[in-house]
Amino acid sequence: MSFQTEILNDSEVSINRAAELIKSGEVVGMPTETVYGLAADAYNEEAVAKIFRAKERPADNPLIVHISSLAEISEVASEIPALALSCAKAFWPGPLTMVLPKNPRIPLITSGGLDTVGIRMPSHPTARALIQASGVPLAAPSANLSGSPSPTCAAHVFKDMNGRIPAIIDGGSCEAGVESTVICFEQNAVKILRPGRITAQMLAAVTPDVRIDKGVLHEVESGAKVASPGMKYKHYSPKANVVILDGSSTAFREYVDTHDKSGVLCLVFGEEDAADDVPYINIGATSEEQAHNLFDALREADERGASTVYARCPKFDGVGLAVYNRLIRAAAFQVIKL
Ligand code: AMP
Ligand code: MG
Repeated sequence: MSFQTEILNDSEVSINRAAELIKSGEVVGMPTETVYGLAADAYNEEAVAKIFRAKERPADNPLIVHISSLAEISEVASEIPALALSCAKAFWPGPLTMVLPKNPRIPLITSGGLDTVGIRMPSHPTARALIQASGVPLAAPSANLSGSPSPTCAAHVFKDMNGRIPAIIDGGSCEAGVESTVICFEQNAVKILRPGRITAQMLAAVTPDVRIDKGVLHEVESGAKVASPGMKYKHYSPKANVVILDGSSTAFREYVDTHDKSGVLCLVFGEEDAADDVPYINIGATSEEQAHNLFDALREADERGASTVYARCPKFDGVGLAVYNRLIRAAAFQVIKL
């Protein structure tokens, strides 16, 4: 498969074109409020196989299935616990994925061989319009090559997918900038498998028992059985070697100043800069801004030819947990305590 990848605008005509491509078993890049997705008919095994090929994604890493109305949930899941319905009412449409028992209509290739399926109802108007025009739920993982930072604008998708898919809908820059919060249910508890814009604190409004899977903060041992298969793979990595420096901004500056500066680029917060003469990217003051900017900054570090990226350590709470979770994987768990 080799395509002349077309970038479409987000007009109704373009969305209908993209929907025709999806109905004919093709894969289309689509904007969502989290990151860009690579969308195909979730029921069509051959179309879903094309997603795995385009991304070079391991077959056991499941795809999230996107729906546009609550009624569709029973076509994708076989059982919907009361707590899942409460979460759907509280956070859908929005950046929350719920792992539920799979409806037999969803082929195993979509669920990465699991008997469960991740389901999300996005809020992005273009994503919703595309699901509706396609008339089927859309399987859509992030639209990057497996292992590289997720795409937060159409240009990122084009960089990774040019020639691999027929079209990308350009819906501008993604609001959240990090992928959805993924949760599963354990009796009356919600367990976070991947943190995102919907935080533990927000989920606590639906149930008092919110747990965080240990794979969120810690490295998964090789060969270990994991609740969320995506967690065991190398992730979000730019070509540069990323290292988190955990300490105050002063300690950060001092560390950078007293170590080899060749090929170094820094990711800093708020009004900060790096040491004298060291290039830096400011990813924002708040966790929300940092989430929005992180993947773009990691891609920019590569474009600027950095060989080492020193990053300030994000906060562990609220949306900061999502930033930390992505950054620590980009850093292959290299953290230096200052
Ligand atoms: P991506 O769409 O590329 O952000 O990846 C989706 C992630 O959601 C995967 O890496 C999985 O870890 C998680 N996920 C999707 N479906 C399931 C499922 N059935 N069970 C557990 N985790 C899932
Ligand atoms: Mg991904």
